[in-house]
Amino acid sequence: TTAADRSPDTAAGLAPIEAPQHDPDVHQDFGENPAEVRDTNHYQDEYIKGFVDKWDDYIGWEGRAASEGTFFMDQLRARGVEKVLDVATGTGFNSVQLLEAGFETVSADGSAEMLAKAFANGRERGHVLRVVQADWRWLNRDVHGEYDAIICLGNSFTHLFSERDRRKALAEFYAMLSHDGVLILDQRNYDSILDDGFSSKHKYYYSGDTVTAEPEYLDEGLARFRYTFHDDGSVYHLNMFPLRKDYVRRLMREVGFQKIDTYGDFQDTYSQDTPDFWIHVAEKT
Ligand code: SAM
Repeated sequence: TTAADRSPDTAAGLAPIEAPQHDPDVHQDFGENPAEVRDTNHYQDEYIKGFVDKWDDYIGWEGRAASEGTFFMDQLRARGVEKVLDVATGTGFNSVQLLEAGFETVSADGSAEMLAKAFANGRERGHVLRVVQADWRWLNRDVHGEYDAIICLGNSFTHLFSERDRRKALAEFYAMLSHDGVLILDQRNYDSILDDGFSSKHKYYYSGDTVTAEPEYLDEGLARFRYTFHDDGSVYHLNMFPLRKDYVRRLMREVGFQKIDTYGDFQDTYSQDTPDFWIHVAEKT
C-alpha cells in the first residue's frame, strides 16, 4: 500500500492533509499573515542562505561601486577618519571597499549567514575581514574599542520596528564613536513611497533588470518588499519599517548627534527628481 492508500482523508475523497515541507534555506517563514510581521528580531529569519546567496546579484558590486563613487570615502577622509566600524556588513561590499581604501575596518552584522558570505567575498578579493556578530541593540557588549566612524548602509536601519529599538541602536552607535566621530546611515526614500501612495508604487530594477524590488504591502508601519530574481525565478521578501527622513534626523539629534547633513542620492533613480535614497551624515561635535 502507498501512503495515499493509508490516508483516511484520501479514502474519503479529500486531499491528504500534510504539513508543507519547506526548505529553510530558500523558504522564508512569514507565517499566515506576512503583513503582521513587524518585529525587529525577524531579520534573522529573512536573511536565509538562499537569499544571502542571491544578495550580490541584487546589489551588484560593480554597479554599486559606480553609483556610490567615492562619496563615503570622501566623507571619511575629510574628517581624518582611520578606524571604521561597519555595523551592517551584509555581504561585505562597503567593508571591502573601505579596506581597499586603507581604512582600518571591523565588520559587524547580526546575521551569521551574512557574515559568512562577507568573509568569503573578502577572501576572494584577497582580504581577511575582521568580522563580529553583533546586534546593534547590544553592540557595546559584543564589539570593543572606539571608532572614528560607524557606517550603517544599504537601507539597514529600516529593520528596526520600534522606536525604543531605534533609540537604543543609535545610542549604542553614539557610545562607540570617538568624541568627534561620525555616523553615516542611509535609508530608502520612504516619504515618497508613502506620500505618493501605494497605487503609484514603482518597481526598482537592479543589475540591469535581472532583479526587481517592489513594494507588495505598505502602510505607515510596514513596507513589505518583494525581490524577484529573474535568472532562476526565485522570490524573497523583506518586511521593513518605512522610516521618514525627518523622523530619523530627529532621533539622531535626540540621542546627541550635533550636526546632521542629509544627502539625496540622485543617481539610479526611476523618477526624475526624487532621490531613491537619503544618506545621513551625523557628527558628534
Ligand atoms: N550593508 C549591506 C548592503 O548594503 O548590502 C547589507 C544591507 S541589508 C539590507 C541589512 C543588514 O542589516 C543585514 O545584513 C542584516 O543582517 C543587518 N541587520 C538588520 N537588523 C540588525 C540588527 N538589529 N543588528 C545587527 N544587524 C542587523
